[in-house]
Amino acid sequence: MSLTLKDARQLDREDPLHKFRDEFYIKDDVIYLDGNSLGLLSKRAEKSLLDVLDSWKNYGIDGWTTGEHPWFYLSENLGDQMADLVGAKPNEVIVSGSTTVNLHQLAATFYDPEGSKTKILADELNFPSDIYALQSQIKLKGYDPDDHLIRVKSRDGHTLDEEDIMAQMTEDVALIVLPSVLYRSGQILDMKRLTEEAHKRNIMIGFDLCHSIGAIPHSLDEWDVDFAFWCNYKHLNAGPGSVAALYVNEKHFGKTPGIAGWFSSHKEKQFDMEHTLTPAEDAGAFQIGTPHILSAAPLIGSLEIFKEAGIENIREKSLKLTQFMMDLIHQELKEYDFTFGNPIADDQRGGHIYLEHKEAARICKALKDANVVPDFRAPNGIRLAPVALYNTFEDVYRTVQILKDIMKNETYKKYENKRGVVA
Ligand SMILES: *Cc1c(COP(=O)(O)O)cnc(C)c1O
Repeated sequence: MSLTLKDARQLDREDPLHKFRDEFYIKDDVIYLDGNSLGLLSKRAEKSLLDVLDSWKNYGIDGWTTGEHPWFYLSENLGDQMADLVGAKPNEVIVSGSTTVNLHQLAATFYDPEGSKTKILADELNFPSDIYALQSQIKLKGYDPDDHLIRVKSRDGHTLDEEDIMAQMTEDVALIVLPSVLYRSGQILDMKRLTEEAHKRNIMIGFDLCHSIGAIPHSLDEWDVDFAFWCNYKHLNAGPGSVAALYVNEKHFGKTPGIAGWFSSHKEKQFDMEHTLTPAEDAGAFQIGTPHILSAAPLIGSLEIFKEAGIENIREKSLKLTQFMMDLIHQELKEYDFTFGNPIADDQRGGHIYLEHKEAARICKALKDANVVPDFRAPNGIRLAPVALYNTFEDVYRTVQILKDIMKNETYKKYENKRGVVA
C-alpha cells in the first residue's frame, strides 16, 4: 500500500499542532527543512524583540528595572521559562552567552584535574567548536590536548555506541562532555545511562543540547546530569546568534565560576561594586558580563509557543514527520542509491533525517533551486529537518517528490559537487 498526497493531507488534518504554522513567517512557495540550523522567525518572537526595543526607546537606562521585561532580570526569567524543556528547576537554568562560551565556562568550572585524574572524554563525531573549546581548556590547565582529550571512536562513522563510551570511562578521566543528539546523524545518546555510568566511576558529565533542545524532552534533574549547555537559534527559533543557555545541577550551587564577571554576582550585591565577588547562589553565577538583551528578546515570544504546544506533543509529531519522510524515501527513491545515516529506531532518532548520497552537495543545490531548503554536511550528507511547529506532512510529501524529480531528470548534474562557504 503506497503513501499518497491524500495521506499527507489527512495527517495534517489530524495534527493537533497544525495551527502553530500560522505563527511563523513562512514563504508560500518554500519548504523550509533547516530549522535544526536556524529556526524560523515567529510573530511572537518578532513582537517580543520589538517590545524590548521599545523599552529602550521609552525608558533609556531605566529599562534595566522597569517595563514589561526588566533587562536586569531577563536572563533569570528566561531561564525559569526554559527549565521545563530540560527537566530542571527554574533556578538551575540561565540564559547567557553562546554555546561555545558556555562550554568554556562550564569546563573552566567543572574540569578539575587532580592527581592522575586529568583527562577529558569526548567523541570523534562532535561539533568542532566543542572540541576546540575543550582543547583550549586542557591547555589552560597546563596539559597537552593531544593526550588529554580522548575522543571515542564511531564504529560506522555516524553513531556512537554507549558501550564504547563506557569502556573509555577510565580512572584517568576527570570530565565527560558529549552531545545529547549528534549534529549529523541525529542519534540520541542515552543520557540517563551515561550519567549513571560516569558517576559510578566518580566522573563529572555534561551534555551539549544544541540539537535536542526544543525537539525532544529531557529530564536532566532526574538523570542527575552535572551540567548542560545549548544554543537557542536552532529548534528554539530565537534568531541568528541569539543568546544561549546553560544548566547547572543544584547540587553544584556554590561552586565558584571558572570564568567570573560582575554578572556572576548575587543580584542584590552586584551594584555594591565590591572587588570581592559574591556569586549568585544558583545557575546565575555562571553568567559573565552584561547580557545581550536584544539578542535574548526573541526568546521571550518563542518560549510562549513552546509552552502552549508542549514539548511532548512536539516530539510526538516530530517522530511522525521523520517516520513519514523515511517511509516515502523508501517508497519513492529506491533506485537512486540513498542511504540513511540517522538511526531508524524512535528512541534513538532526533529531530532530523540524515540522507547520504555521493552527489549530496549538488543535490542540495538542486533542492534549494527548487525551493526546498535542506542543509549539506560534507562530504556526502543531506540533513532534512521537518520541524513540528511549522512543517506539514504535505511539505514532507512534496519534498520527496521534488527529490525524485531531481534524481530522475538528473537536474543535479547542472551544479558543481562542492559546498558553499556556509553549508
Ligand atoms: C550549533 C552548535 C554549536 C554552535 O555553537 P555557537 O557557540 O552557538 O556558535 C556548538 N555545538 C553544537 C553541537 C552545535 O550543534
